[in-house]
Amino acid sequence: MKKILITGGAGFIGSHVVRRFVKNYPNYQIFNLDALTYAGNLENITDIEKEANYTFVKGDITDEQFIANLFEEQQFDGVIHLAAESHVDRSIEDPMAFVKTNVIGTVNLLNAARKQWANNSEDKRFYHVSTDEVYGSLGAEGLFTETTPYDPNSPYSASKASSDHFVRAYGETYGMPYVLTNCSNNYGPNHFPEKLIPLFINNIINNKPLPVYGDGNYTRDWLFVIDHAVAIDLVFHQGKNHETYNIGGFNEWKNIDLVKVLCQIMDTKLGRNQGESEKLITYVKDRPGHDLRYAIDANKISKELGWKPSVTFEQGLEITIDWYLSNKEWLNSVTSGDYEKYYETMYS
Ligand code: NAD
Repeated sequence: MKKILITGGAGFIGSHVVRRFVKNYPNYQIFNLDALTYAGNLENITDIEKEANYTFVKGDITDEQFIANLFEEQQFDGVIHLAAESHVDRSIEDPMAFVKTNVIGTVNLLNAARKQWANNSEDKRFYHVSTDEVYGSLGAEGLFTETTPYDPNSPYSASKASSDHFVRAYGETYGMPYVLTNCSNNYGPNHFPEKLIPLFINNIINNKPLPVYGDGNYTRDWLFVIDHAVAIDLVFHQGKNHETYNIGGFNEWKNIDLVKVLCQIMDTKLGRNQGESEKLITYVKDRPGHDLRYAIDANKISKELGWKPSVTFEQGLEITIDWYLSNKEWLNSVTSGDYEKYYETMYS
């Protein structure tokens, strides 16, 4: 029985990864370590909480002693590290929180794994989950490849870039068996409604303004979260040691075009006249240091590991919107309390 530590498994992507591993690998004991910050929610994984091969551990990756003790007690065979502060806008308000969790937290995990695997790192693996935002901004042309130089522009992407560098450095310096992936924007169920797609779904439901940054021409590649979880599974099991893989949806959208599509689908779902939700679009002051365009070349993972997205954007959006419409309790509970204060600060 292998022991696998997944960090951040109560968050958006982590919840889908934990579910996949618990359900598909009964021969693994899955430990989900999460501090349950505002972004972590055990409601995301109630369906697996009673599974025999699943254990939840509440804890903070910035707590060096706690992490050292946990590794000592459990003797993990693998780590899939997703825990992070993940929202660019929050990183602009409070960069140090991002340094603590994304950089120091990652180094704490690396140190504990290094100590534990010092004498035998065979069949061990440290999987670091990262973002395409580390590559900076593209012009109208070109794609990020695995060899694109890092050029982060936000405190969030700088902290993720730093953590990526630490992972690679531990590979070179100490022989840490690692794999690393840089993925584009995810969307899907369980996404906290501070990020574009769930924020807009929630605001359309509640007839609130849809705040579009700048002129709306910022361009992102979008990937359905379950396809990201499948890619993580593949890379964890079949990726080559010390390799990086880019993951993306081959699916670029200008923010304003994406918002308009969302409005159209939501009008249909909510029985509103076409064009009604679009009236909620409000252009707001741009985010400082905003990257113009991200686009991923995901050919390496496709060619080497046979991965490709399983749903079209239209199918993924449909599943996502249906999920939010039938999980109003989830939506209401995560958008009350602190979220209201956050929302006021950001958009009032
Ligand atoms: P999220 O914010 O939804 O979830 C993060 C989780 O980490 C939460 O459950 C939170 O409670 C936990 N966490 C935060 N700080 C912690 C700490 N100090 N100790 C333990 N747990 C802590 O994030 P997400 O969108 O699911 O992203 C997961 C990972 O994937 C991150 O590393 C992120 O950089 C990366 N990523 C995200 C995207 C995306 O589009 N969301 C794209 C590419 C890569």
